[in-house]
Amino acid sequence: MAQSPTDYAKEKLAALEARAQRRALQATDRFDSVRVRRSGRELISFCCNDYLNLSAHPGVKDAAKSAIDRYGAGAGASRLVTGDHPLFAELERALADLKGTEDAVVFGSGYLANLGIIPTFVGEGDLILVDELAHACINAGAQLSGATVMRFAHNDMAALEQSLRDYRGAFAHCLILTDGVFSMDGDLAPLPALAALAADHDAWLMTDDAHGVGVVGGGRGSSFAFGPRLHVPLQMGTLSKALGSYGGYICADREVCDLIRTRARPFIYSTGLPPASAAAALEALKIIREDPDLCGAPVQKAAAFCKALNLPTPQSPIVPLILGDERAALAASLALEDAGFLVTAIRPPTVPAGTARLRFTFTAEHDDGDIARLAGKVRELTIPVAAE
Ligand SMILES: *Cc1c(COP(=O)(O)O)cnc(C)c1O
Repeated sequence: MAQSPTDYAKEKLAALEARAQRRALQATDRFDSVRVRRSGRELISFCCNDYLNLSAHPGVKDAAKSAIDRYGAGAGASRLVTGDHPLFAELERALADLKGTEDAVVFGSGYLANLGIIPTFVGEGDLILVDELAHACINAGAQLSGATVMRFAHNDMAALEQSLRDYRGAFAHCLILTDGVFSMDGDLAPLPALAALAADHDAWLMTDDAHGVGVVGGGRGSSFAFGPRLHVPLQMGTLSKALGSYGGYICADREVCDLIRTRARPFIYSTGLPPASAAAALEALKIIREDPDLCGAPVQKAAAFCKALNLPTPQSPIVPLILGDERAALAASLALEDAGFLVTAIRPPTVPAGTARLRFTFTAEHDDGDIARLAGKVRELTIPVAAE
């Protein structure tokens, strides 16, 4: 009997359901910078990546509206055809200035950026060494490249060095891939050590700073989080988190950017980012450059929460509370929702099996009293879990 796509989907969904891994969307009305409405209920969100609340910033919204009035709702074509509206040059200049690089290239999203950048620089006969906790789209780009992909234990520089010693010599090029700030754990990659290993072993280092830009290194991202700017030749990121907009980018030397504009398929064969998204990101970058105190606020809020719960001092606005089991994470999330807090449970395959968790993200505009109440509720919930 032939199986229809519908029957196939039913079977798959039932299996996922049995493992508590089925996903469902929930309409979420983000009606102000920290509050949302879901199923008619008002909740304080501790799970947006809008760290600086710039998606709701009046100046950012006005910039987007003016861009629509001036350039229209969409780019109209890929950038190499007619979609390269004038805001792109300004936005790429501003990104390069923020990161201290010669140039930058903007993509349709961060996911697309990783799918484009990685295969532009490595392919068959090359080696990719990637942190085991790197974001899904880094792994997707790595797979797509056709290079040999090996993972190293999370932030384990001895393991990376061993792989470089054992395997580097057998490949033409070697690319080391890591998140700058890890999206599900909130820790920083040890970039000085990574840069030194890359230099010693003739490898290229690429960082994904989706969760770093705007919130660490004085707002300039993870390459600035360790003192003077570190040389990271390929710095990728997104406009969709602290910048409050949408789109992806890479900051790098001019020729690197030119090669990407010439060869990266998601850049060439996908429509340019809408003018409103580019204008919003540009305005957000201005705010980030002018207001280092704002950029420091999310990590300070996260630190207050961690202090209240005796958790380690956070390195970013992301704080994980690992509960292990999918059901425990879901139950804790529901209990927090009952108390008026929105904190999503993060489950495999987004995180490794057995590490289902609550993932809290803090933003500049979270109220200190709300953070204290949240910490109190979490303490109530997790003490019985820990005692089991
Ligand atoms: C969110 C995220 C991305 C994807 O960026 P989008 O612009 O949302 O596609 C890439 N890498 C990391 C580490 C992320 O957290």
